[in-house]
Amino acid sequence: MKKAVIFRFLGIVLLAVGVSSLIFYYFIGRYILEDTISSMEMTISVVDYSLDYEGNLQEQLEELGREVMEETARITLIGLDGKVEADNSGVDPETMENHLEREEVAQTIEKGSGSARRYSESQEKKFLYVAKLTQNGEYVLRMAVPYTGMFDYLGDVFPVLLGGVGLTFLISGFAAVRFSNTITHPLLEISEELGKVKSEGLHFDFKHYQYPELNVIADTTRGMAEEIRAHMQRLEKEKRIRQEFFSNASHELKTPITSIRGYAELLEQDLIPDEGVRKDFLHRILKETEHMTSVINDILMISRLEAKEAEVTFSMVKIPALVKELFESMEPMAAEYKVKLHQDCEDVELYASVQQMRELLSNLISNGIKYNHPEGNVWVEAEKDGEYVRIYVRDDGCGISKEEQARIFERFYRVDKGRSRKMGGTGLGLSIVKHIVEYYNGEITLRSCPGKGSEFIVLLPVKI
Ligand code: ADP
Repeated sequence: MKKAVIFRFLGIVLLAVGVSSLIFYYFIGRYILEDTISSMEMTISVVDYSLDYEGNLQEQLEELGREVMEETARITLIGLDGKVEADNSGVDPETMENHLEREEVAQTIEKGSGSARRYSESQEKKFLYVAKLTQNGEYVLRMAVPYTGMFDYLGDVFPVLLGGVGLTFLISGFAAVRFSNTITHPLLEISEELGKVKSEGLHFDFKHYQYPELNVIADTTRGMAEEIRAHMQRLEKEKRIRQEFFSNASHELKTPITSIRGYAELLEQDLIPDEGVRKDFLHRILKETEHMTSVINDILMISRLEAKEAEVTFSMVKIPALVKELFESMEPMAAEYKVKLHQDCEDVELYASVQQMRELLSNLISNGIKYNHPEGNVWVEAEKDGEYVRIYVRDDGCGISKEEQARIFERFYRVDKGRSRKMGGTGLGLSIVKHIVEYYNGEITLRSCPGKGSEFIVLLPVKI
């Protein structure tokens, strides 16, 4: 990359020098031409002034040419009809063809002066012709000198030009190396820093560079590293949760299986003669299988919610009617625990799955009954709040301490393991509630005071 930058840089310099030289060449060429023309016009005026038009013009021109003019300079006197009257080149003017058509002569007859450049066949050179009307207005006095434009000066200009270009190249070369270093050095540093990822992990220590684009690379990489780290932490957490879940779930199922096995073995060995005890054992086996079924159903429910299963049927769910239905089915349980159920719901409804709403409310209400004391109460209220429905499930039961409040939504978490299990709890109820609320992008908050009671507030959107 460094080489490429230097070569590109020098290429651009070469182009710039080339273009500026061409422009320089063109303008200097024009300037030299104009300067030569004006000094030749001056010479013509002097010649015109010194000529005696009454005398022998041919002789005078030849003498002038010999004495004062440069050898290569040629001076010609042409009549207004184009006839050559005198010429210092040594050629007999009588033999010369008519000059009326010559560009500089035609211009002079028309405007008083003129000039032209062309190749002279006789001299085999390129000539510059400058002509002026004589003061008496009777002739065109023309001067010609060999002229090849800038090439005449190339000998003088070339070394200077070469030196200038060389110096420019030298300076540009240094500048190019320095410039490429300002880009390649940071890039090398950045890649070196990135290379540390294997040994030092995702911790980068980038410097601040002169060019914002390079800082963008550093910032983006830092941002990406940050995201990757967060993602890895998330994966770690998910892995830990999954592992915990599997060990909890197997433990949860192992306990009933162990007791079922124990009862079944005793029954199989025919060691219990008492019919009543045998019936009790069978009843316990049934209870344990019921518990296992509940655990498995709850696990399945959570995994369906986590996978955001598509096979969910939505309809308008009327909250008061649903609470009424749940109260009816929970009445035996409430009676068993001597807990009173109260409902005060506004006529609210929301677009949701009845099954999920039933699961959500039944978990909250049954907890209110289970973690209560005789003569306790459970209240369910619902109200509309703009685009949301707010449902309150309140009890005056045992309440939950601050520390426990943070954990009760975790899977298999129970404050009092023994009590929960005795009441048929799986430790998954609130986790299911939380998953359902999240499924609808809602919110759940808990207010609780140990010994006084708890209140779960669920906020769900009317339309999903
Ligand atoms: P469980 O099957 O044990 O009821 P949950 O997930 O429904 O599982 O609840 C987790 C724990 O939170 C319960 O074991 C209980 O200790 C506590 N809890 C839940 N609801 C209440 C409540 N209304 N009052 C007091 N404690 C509660």
